[in-house]
Amino acid sequence: MAKLTPMMEQYLKIHDQVKDAILFFRLGDFYEMFFDDAILASKELEITLTGRDCGLEERAPMCGVPYHSAETYIAKLIEKGYKVAICEQVEDPSEAKGIVRREITRIISPGTVIDGEMLDDNKNNYLLCIYYEDEQFGLGVTDISTGEFMVSEIQHSRSVLIDEIGKLNPSEIITNNSLYKNKELKNLIEEKLNIKINPYPNKYFNYKECEKKIKKHFHVYSLTSVDLDAYPIIVKAAGALIQYLEQTQKNALSHINQINRYAIEEYMLLDLSTRRNLELTETIRGKEKKGSLLWVIDKTLTSMGARLLRQWVEQPLLNKEQIQKRLDGVEEIYHDIVLRKELENLLKKVYDIQRLITRISYGNANARDLLSLKQSIGILPELKKILSKCNSALLKQIYDQLDTLEDIFSLINQGIIEDPPQTIKEGNIIKDGFNKEVDKYRDASRFGKQWIKKMEQEEKKKTGIKSLKIRFNKVFGYYIEVTKSNLHLVPDYFIRKQTLANSERYFTHELKEIEDKILGAEDKVVQLEYKIFQNIRERILSQIIRIQSSAKCIAFLDAIWSLATIAYENHYVKPVITNKDEIDIKEGRHPVVENMMDYSEFVPNDCKINCGNNRIMLITGPNMAGKSTYMRQVALIVLMAQIGSFVPAKQAKIGIVDRIFTRVGASDDLASGQSTFMVEMSEVSNILKNASKNSLVILDEIGRGTSTFDGLSIAWAVIEYINDKKYIGCKTLFATHYHELTVLEDQLEGVKNYSIAVKEENDNIVFLREIISGKTDQSYGIQVAKIAGLPDEVIKRSKEILNKLEFSDSNKKRFPHEKYLKTAITKERKEINTKNYNDNNHLTLFNYKYEEIIQKIKSLQLDRMTPIEIMNYMYKLQKNLKNE
Ligand code: ADP
Repeated sequence: MAKLTPMMEQYLKIHDQVKDAILFFRLGDFYEMFFDDAILASKELEITLTGRDCGLEERAPMCGVPYHSAETYIAKLIEKGYKVAICEQVEDPSEAKGIVRREITRIISPGTVIDGEMLDDNKNNYLLCIYYEDEQFGLGVTDISTGEFMVSEIQHSRSVLIDEIGKLNPSEIITNNSLYKNKELKNLIEEKLNIKINPYPNKYFNYKECEKKIKKHFHVYSLTSVDLDAYPIIVKAAGALIQYLEQTQKNALSHINQINRYAIEEYMLLDLSTRRNLELTETIRGKEKKGSLLWVIDKTLTSMGARLLRQWVEQPLLNKEQIQKRLDGVEEIYHDIVLRKELENLLKKVYDIQRLITRISYGNANARDLLSLKQSIGILPELKKILSKCNSALLKQIYDQLDTLEDIFSLINQGIIEDPPQTIKEGNIIKDGFNKEVDKYRDASRFGKQWIKKMEQEEKKKTGIKSLKIRFNKVFGYYIEVTKSNLHLVPDYFIRKQTLANSERYFTHELKEIEDKILGAEDKVVQLEYKIFQNIRERILSQIIRIQSSAKCIAFLDAIWSLATIAYENHYVKPVITNKDEIDIKEGRHPVVENMMDYSEFVPNDCKINCGNNRIMLITGPNMAGKSTYMRQVALIVLMAQIGSFVPAKQAKIGIVDRIFTRVGASDDLASGQSTFMVEMSEVSNILKNASKNSLVILDEIGRGTSTFDGLSIAWAVIEYINDKKYIGCKTLFATHYHELTVLEDQLEGVKNYSIAVKEENDNIVFLREIISGKTDQSYGIQVAKIAGLPDEVIKRSKEILNKLEFSDSNKKRFPHEKYLKTAITKERKEINTKNYNDNNHLTLFNYKYEEIIQKIKSLQLDRMTPIEIMNYMYKLQKNLKNE
């Protein structure tokens, strides 16, 4: 009976350990895949599918990739959502008895990628573990490419969970079964965030086991030392995450050595739609960095700084002292042009130390990586000297914490040669003088070469063959080459090795002896250098915490430097941060829009709001006037201030806000099957439920997705609700095309009308981009349509129609239904004045049925109807009205 070959047996046994992954099985210089993996991978990677004898009747499907270019193929598979398990030969094939021992050395999934090609330098790559129990969520988050490990918890709020996941934007999520099997919750996360959740067996969330794992991994005796004793759900999430890392990364985890617990409330909560609408890190349309806030403020010189600044933008601060500290740091660099230049010159020499350290921890770093590390830490003494002159608390703190790592610098400097090769197994990496044995072998091979030269001279002399050469190749070793014309001069002691067309090759006993010495030394030195290199790597790794701490200092300094630099280049000012409820911006600008145009073209605007009389800015103005830009600009200025950045304004006083909410523009969430209106309403609902009096709310054109009357009613009611201190009473910017709402200024204390000025010039509209007090009551729709390039015929005809409509309505530039609306609103106003407005639950704003009925009566063709038909019709209408 056919039987599997031993190698195939080994393959299948190993694959059994990682059923959900594609197994890269190392065979010599290739990683091979077999059976279903091979069929799948050959298709996904577009590589040839072949077969291999496996002992059975049919050959096993097989495909493979060369080991040295495997990274690209792995990256492709990971990107397509697969997991890849790497199985290596773990003993020297030449020493193996029977089949070579093989083991899985790593499992790579989207959240456990560490290789350069698969990572974005300027972004963290998070793996998230969620533990769910009784509507509480424990979170464990790690970026194994940088060594960060953070934990937190969320109590009873799915929306906060969604926002937090949205902020982290993890590449992979694992959870316990309670969450995975909770369809509603699972779908909510997967659909909102467009990410798949993977189940992780419940046994790994066992408290005792998790506690043990945390203590062992972070080398602590009790959970108190890592401040987790009071957080059982965090312990479960963190402990499970460590086990997942152990299973997939095997032993290379020494770079993950600090656990950092954070409270969600420490930072400004920004929900998903607000992040998107404000285009903090990418644009809504193109999903590109260009055009986002981060694009403007990120001038960082290192990847570490870039990642940190992104984190800052994603989570603005709430604590006045912390904000102030960053601002003071930025200010110092902003004002000191020499300091700025000096820092720039140093920081730009720094490589990604965090990710280099990870490579070292994984044993993947080569000699060039160590040189990059050397160059990066080589700037530290100079950096420390520069920082010693600084005065702000933040820069002083960085100075205090900065370890200049001179010992590591000199270890690499003395050990590694300046221009080493890519590989670490072919020698030529250790400097002369670093290790005596290496020097000895090197001498042998160097002197050996001199011996060869000397011997060549002597043989030339002895034989009289002037063209005699001693050469070397990998197959034959050293040999003496004599051209055909000189063969008659060859002496007896030359032993023939090989005959070529024009020459003969020989060796002598003496040459053989020298060869053995040289080649023996070369082989030995290569092995020795590899060992010494590994030892240097280990010694660096033993100092990992110090190196990581300096890397953090550099990231911090770089982020602050970037904020100072853009503040200087873009003429920003330092905001005054207060705990009062006011926002007072003089000549504010939109940081991105002004960057897209010539600096002088942007028209600055003021904004003064508080929780008192100026609570709601009700902004009207034609389309394209600049309403959205203005409102976003206010939100961005507040957000920038709270990350510790200077702001685009002439002066700014910012009272810290707890949250910013935006509902801007209409967008269909087609992926989740929600209509524009539904999306709009759920966003508004989220705002009304979660905004506090300390929030800043930006609402742009709400109610647009439905009929005029519905929309107006909703917008009206929303303003009332937000303005009412009993419910929210927070600072709000509300742009609307419903001019009718401007009457609210008279009705509600706190609402103030504003508009964006335009001017009419020869039937054309000129946008002045200036925000002014008071309302507009013109839409200028046709003028805007003209600018947008509608055909002249359409513009002309629109005007005709508008004129007719105006005529039919006592020369008012309004549509008939708007006139009706005005009457309704006036009526409503009277009612409001007679009733106590605040304790009214739902005011009937107006009854749009009247309008419909009037239209119907108008359109009746009475001369074609019988009296009884008219009677019946009137009966129906009356019934309709009674039912109201
Ligand atoms: P609206 O929301 O009123 O329809 P937008 O805010 O979308 O108008 O602005 C339309 C365009 O006007 C923007 O894309 C921008 O190019 C320009 N704009 C807006 N505000 C300003 C300003 N303050 N200065 C210069 N240009 C502006």
